[in-house]
Amino acid sequence: MQRFDVIVIGAGPAGASAAYVAARAGLRVALIDRKTFPREKLCGGLITGRARRHYAEIFGHEMPFDPQDRKTTVDFRYRGQPVGLIEDAPALCATMRWDMDAMLCGHAMAAGAQDYTGHAVAEIDCDARRVTLKDGAILQYEVLIGADGVNSQVARALFGQPFDRQRIGFGLEIEARGAHLNPAGPIRIDLAAAQWGYGWVFPKRCSTTVGVGGLLSENADMKQAMSAYCEMLGIDAADLHVKGQFLPFGDFRKMPGQGAVLLAGDAAGLVDPITGEGIGYAMQSGQLAAKAALAALNAGRPQTALSHYRRALRPVHRALRMARLIRPVIFLPALEPGFARAFRRSSTLRHEYLRLMAGEVEYGQILTRLVLRLPRLGLLALRARF
Ligand SMILES: Cc1cc2nc3c(=O)[nH]c(=O)nc-3n(C[C@H](O)[C@H](O)[C@H](O)COP(=O)(O)OP(=O)(O)OC[C@H]3O[C@@H](n4cnc5c(N)ncnc54)[C@H](O)[C@@H]3O)c2cc1C
Repeated sequence: MQRFDVIVIGAGPAGASAAYVAARAGLRVALIDRKTFPREKLCGGLITGRARRHYAEIFGHEMPFDPQDRKTTVDFRYRGQPVGLIEDAPALCATMRWDMDAMLCGHAMAAGAQDYTGHAVAEIDCDARRVTLKDGAILQYEVLIGADGVNSQVARALFGQPFDRQRIGFGLEIEARGAHLNPAGPIRIDLAAAQWGYGWVFPKRCSTTVGVGGLLSENADMKQAMSAYCEMLGIDAADLHVKGQFLPFGDFRKMPGQGAVLLAGDAAGLVDPITGEGIGYAMQSGQLAAKAALAALNAGRPQTALSHYRRALRPVHRALRMARLIRPVIFLPALEPGFARAFRRSSTLRHEYLRLMAGEVEYGQILTRLVLRLPRLGLLALRARF
């Protein structure tokens, strides 16, 4: 039996960050993923300023980007109609997860994490603090970090189910190539392409990522929303492989673990309920989980890891709660036309939204300004309705 201070399951942004931080602190770390890297991950791959800040803080250098991947033009639409083309938006970076996650995972291994990629987990025994791999190997831990994504096996071991279907989001995506390839094109966001969600076009060097996503409970037929969106964009999706995945669109876990078992990233539901951004929160929570593990281990009390972690996660939970409060103003069908109209008219609102998307402004600031604007937004919504 192999013994570790920390076992991390899942080597995406959350797990790689957690393993890197724990290994750098001198802990014995195992990083398990059922896939070998590089691997596919369904995602828009859009990196915000928030994600770049967390990356730099964790890994000690700026996230490397090809200048071509830097996007500062955003084309906003509502039901296909232009509501604002912003050419000086705060920079967003259009990456492929194939490359980015392999880089993150590489950082963790270089820091000393033991490489268990390509290994599936057969069983997690939280009482015995043991993880059994499908090949029969048994690994013992002091602290376990579940960073195994939205369908988390660790969350299932703790709570019986990884998420609540009534509160989860769902996204569909294609990678369009050929005639649709325009690496220099703007980022396009289509409000109302899905209910309580949106559609997106992210042009990249080797493909254009096109998708729709929104709350699952409000979108009985997401495939139909995707077909309609592709048709509107003039893309024949018949020959393209449409892939789908759950997205914890604001449905975060108030209790992100139990004792010596912590959940990070999507496994803890840490995705922005308005923009769908999850990579930045994944890296941040991975880092915080590793620090919580270290504090608990240094105190000789691994079972206190969760209380350290919950304290550290408070600002993230607060931000997600505020975003959930703001979300109806943007997505509630009765208010959506009013929001689109206000968006078209107000360059301040457009720039605020973009700063939000880019992770340059926090929800607390937005909420304060929104409360001041509510009477006007309400009036616009009423005018749009009657
Ligand atoms: C359609 C769509 C578009 C999105 N677009 C964006 C975007 O543009 N920008 C953004 O910031 N966020 C986006 N997100 C959200 C983002 O993809 C996630 O929030 C982010 O990947 C979370 O990182 P993670 O490390 O928690 O999980 P993941 O990236 O999902 O990594 C989990 C890892 O765990 C491994 N794993 C799973 N189960 C097991 C197991 N039992 N045993 C071993 N290994 C296991 C998986 O192989 C995987 O490598 C999007 C999501 C979707 C669905």
